[in-house]
Amino acid sequence: MPDYRIIDVHNHIYPEKIVSKATDAIGDFYDINMQHLGTGDELVEAGKRAGIEKFVVCSAATIPQQVPTINNFIAAECEKHPEFIGFGTLHAEFEDTENEIARMKEMGLRGVKLHPDFQKFYLDDPKAIEMFKAIRDNDMWVLVHVGDDRYDYSQPERMARVIEKVPGLKVIAAHFGGYRRWASALNVYKPGTIYFDISSSMHFMDEELVYSFFDRYGIESFFWGTDFPMWDHKEELELFFDLGLSEKDNKMILYENFAKAFGLV
Ligand SMILES: [Zn+2]
Repeated sequence: MPDYRIIDVHNHIYPEKIVSKATDAIGDFYDINMQHLGTGDELVEAGKRAGIEKFVVCSAATIPQQVPTINNFIAAECEKHPEFIGFGTLHAEFEDTENEIARMKEMGLRGVKLHPDFQKFYLDDPKAIEMFKAIRDNDMWVLVHVGDDRYDYSQPERMARVIEKVPGLKVIAAHFGGYRRWASALNVYKPGTIYFDISSSMHFMDEELVYSFFDRYGIESFFWGTDFPMWDHKEELELFFDLGLSEKDNKMILYENFAKAFGLV
């Protein structure tokens, strides 16, 4: 096995004080047995064991009032851990988006994480569209949880509408662009307008479907991620290598696509 450079683009971290409650709640929501607890220190430890070099870290605000506190927390974790790339959060109902984005940028955060099913807003709601425009105009990225077969907030069709209405928005659509809604996600986006992460998905997809995504959208559109603390880095890497992609494709998905998109040297 070549010595791959690896970035994990999807990690959730929580303050020590609330970590077990937060992680339990997510496990219950998805009916999945969480592999880790979810502090920043634990992430570095688990990730390093699997050879991960850098981690995009985030945490979505369930209610608008949590936005500034979470952004402060993510920024503080990034100061503590140089291997972290911080994504803050926003909410469609948050009042002071422009100022908060300016504050995020000042603190060195590179993007925004959203999870409409937890946050309870429709991705293509007019208020959300305004928020996405502000994110784009400030040259920030957005990592969006997309898809659920039980809720309507984050459907792939809504994500596609956002990209149509906010051209140039830099989107990473999590979970192949539509968790448990892969049939829609496979067709609904225009190739070249969106990036995907492949976290929390391959346990539930057959290999043929995964390959259909690579064929339609191109290997250059995919980033590797774990959705920590839900899954373990080592096991997720094994699952990825089981696909049997070429060394070149592995390198692109594990590191190069993200490094190129984010201008890492
Ligand atoms: Zn997530």
